[in-house]
Amino acid sequence: MTTPSFRDFRRITIKVGSSLLVDSAQGKLKQDWLAALCADIAALHHSGADVIVVSSGAIALGRSILKLPKGALKLEESQGAAAVGQIALAKSWADALGDHSITTGQILLTLWDTEERRNYLNARETLTRLLEWRAIPVVNENDTVATSEIRYGDNDRLAARVATMASADCLVLLSDVDGLYTAPPQSDPNAILLPIVPRITAEIEAMAGGAASELSRGGMRTKIEAAKIATLGGTQMVIADGRVMNPIKRIIDGGRCTWFTTPTNPVASRKKWIAGVLEPKGALHVDDGAARAIRDGKSLLPAGVKNVEGTFERGDVVLLRAPDGEEIGRGLAAYDAAEAQMIAGRSSRDIEAILGFAGGAAMVHRDDMTLSGH
Ligand code: GLU
Repeated sequence: MTTPSFRDFRRITIKVGSSLLVDSAQGKLKQDWLAALCADIAALHHSGADVIVVSSGAIALGRSILKLPKGALKLEESQGAAAVGQIALAKSWADALGDHSITTGQILLTLWDTEERRNYLNARETLTRLLEWRAIPVVNENDTVATSEIRYGDNDRLAARVATMASADCLVLLSDVDGLYTAPPQSDPNAILLPIVPRITAEIEAMAGGAASELSRGGMRTKIEAAKIATLGGTQMVIADGRVMNPIKRIIDGGRCTWFTTPTNPVASRKKWIAGVLEPKGALHVDDGAARAIRDGKSLLPAGVKNVEGTFERGDVVLLRAPDGEEIGRGLAAYDAAEAQMIAGRSSRDIEAILGFAGGAAMVHRDDMTLSGH
């Protein structure tokens, strides 16, 4: 079994844990380490790959700036500390990537934003837009508003959701461990690091245990949860040691790490999900030209839509029907039914004038579409 190669990845999400970024004794950001990591990121970026950073550290930095006493923080205190720390955190990333002439954009997400369909699509579009502009999104949980019931609490799972949402083909979890061991390496001299995990079995889950260091919330358990989310979504994931300088270069050079692999890719896995939805919410009847274009693998534009059937929201699955009524495919509607009615048959250029906001040019994007008989 061979491990994936970075050269094959077009879009890479890198998650950085608090304990790597913030020196726990001094409560300060590790500038030299961040600079070295950003050199690695810049190398990926300049080789043409899209990079997304998911960075923890807001609470840890905030509590140090505010000089809060050691010990557990109450939820409101964590939220306040995050508000203070996030500014410093974002500025550090912007400066460190700025040294490589890379622009950054801050994105703060709640659990709700990644689970609720409309918010999910909006967040996905913002990420995509930043990447199109060749800016690097720096993502964190919106800790200042996320209450206990609706928060991730750990950035491992958040990073996995962000990676699948952005259709990243690789997720790197930089951590204070170098991978998954068959047993806790601190206490068991026979513990072996697994270089590759092709399937997350009950045995693998049992190896994860529950340990976490003081600053990182995750521990191995949330990393396995992240691996499940990532691999189901078609994203390869790697856990690697971030305590060294240039940790990404180290993985590329063959350093120890654990890969969680998946035979699928993000677009294929989304298409599989779309194909499996049991109750599409409506249908778009398209003209002959659009039916041909769809069969050729193109997106469906509003101009090719003759009729809109059903009540659906943006992001719902709708059927695509040819003039003779045949189902040619199905896909995620980029507009809700009422908006679709208004722009049906019209040029994509007119969308903004008709709806009052500029949505995407496609009614159903080809990456969000499956064809019947495929
Ligand atoms: N979002 C939290 C922060 O930035 C960290 C969560 C985690 O460490 O996984 O402080």
